[in-house]
Amino acid sequence: MESCNCGGPITMILACSGGSNVGQISNEVARRLTLENKGAMFCLAGMGGDIAPLVERTKSAERVLVIDGCPVACAKKTLERHGIEHEWLELTAAGIEKSANLELAEDEIQTAKDAAEEMLGF
Ligand code: SF4
Repeated sequence: MESCNCGGPITMILACSGGSNVGQISNEVARRLTLENKGAMFCLAGMGGDIAPLVERTKSAERVLVIDGCPVACAKKTLERHGIEHEWLELTAAGIEKSANLELAEDEIQTAKDAAEEMLGF
């Protein structure tokens, strides 16, 4: 699955998708950006699982945005293990407090999405 930004670079988006509000917000932001053709969400678990075709496909992306929910930076560290260059957004640094509440707040999703769009230049 790829998307086109009207002649601009194809951006691959990998979210930590962790089991917390910020982890799931990272996933939701990646999903929404993909639906809006602002990038293409891809499979972080494939990087963690060392699935060669998925790792190679990520390496071939023109641009990679990694969204982590918190400073533990699971997604960032996973990409670093494969030596994949990327830009990094960490959601607690964007002002969202981490919690175990998986009832996601729409205003926090929007805050995270705004931060991602700013990084991507939208
Ligand atoms: S970066 Fe934080 S929220 Fe995301 S998977 Fe790791 S510990 Fe969980």
